[in-house]
Amino acid sequence: MCQALFLPPGPSGGRACRARFFFLLNVDVSLMLAIGEYTLQTLDVQYFSLDGGSIFGVVPKVLWEKMIAPDHLNRVRLSMRVLLIRGKGRNILVDAAMGTAWSEKMKQIYDLSEWRLDEELQRADLKRRDITDVVFTHLHFDHVAGAFEERDGRLVSVFPNARFYVQRKNYEAASRPNMKEKSSYVFPFIEALEKSGSMELIDGCVELLPGVEMILRGNGHTAGHQLVRITGNDKTLVHGGDLIPSSAHLAVTRGLAFDIAPLEVIRDKIALLNDLLEKRWLLYFAHDPFIEAATVRRGEKHVVVDKMVKV
Ligand SMILES: [Zn+2]
Repeated sequence: MCQALFLPPGPSGGRACRARFFFLLNVDVSLMLAIGEYTLQTLDVQYFSLDGGSIFGVVPKVLWEKMIAPDHLNRVRLSMRVLLIRGKGRNILVDAAMGTAWSEKMKQIYDLSEWRLDEELQRADLKRRDITDVVFTHLHFDHVAGAFEERDGRLVSVFPNARFYVQRKNYEAASRPNMKEKSSYVFPFIEALEKSGSMELIDGCVELLPGVEMILRGNGHTAGHQLVRITGNDKTLVHGGDLIPSSAHLAVTRGLAFDIAPLEVIRDKIALLNDLLEKRWLLYFAHDPFIEAATVRRGEKHVVVDKMVKV
């Protein structure tokens, strides 16, 4: 059971080539997903590219390139979709993509797409100031940087009325990164988060609102990695963070080369997959280039997507 954290209500208010594999799947085309008292919507804000080897770790290219086709530099196109959760007078985001505060050189390295935050918020009839909470699964740059933008030479919050939630253990890891993760935790964004005055450090499982929980799981990707689980009316969706970032990572041994403890990732993935299978929970993919969310089933060799759900 999570500790409860009920705060007063706030104000209301370039893609990859699809591999053949995905055409065979079922799709549920509802555009906004209702779970209990909450509605969920994807903000399709930004795409980037990472080296295929870093995304699939020890998996040989001949296998992963059948799932997601690489570009001429061996990079794989990935989404950095943001999940919007609305209800009880709150507009909550899970993660914030990369945003705009990057040099031309870095934009090129990551083949960073345009930043469509305002257009996507407008589609939800919201403005930046309406966002009340941002939950970071972890503070790697592709999850935190978009919450900040450069103004007069300083990094400032994009969401002036939002509180930012991160696990204390993850904040500590980001503040003093180990050698492996030094380039994943980009210091100016961690410093901007500290200076924002809006950071809330949490410990373990915490219920942000009834039915919206932050769960400490995925410490093998990075210390203090958390998932977000939304439950209501017999329906549950789990945001897979970087524990299961795409449908291509459903096989338990397909981990990211960034993972700091691959065996821990495997253990946590098995536990999550068991819940998804037994309880028919939906899984939300942060980085999948094509699929926002899905139910899963046992396949011949490993767990696979059963029904895709558009969120
Ligand atoms: Zn990531």
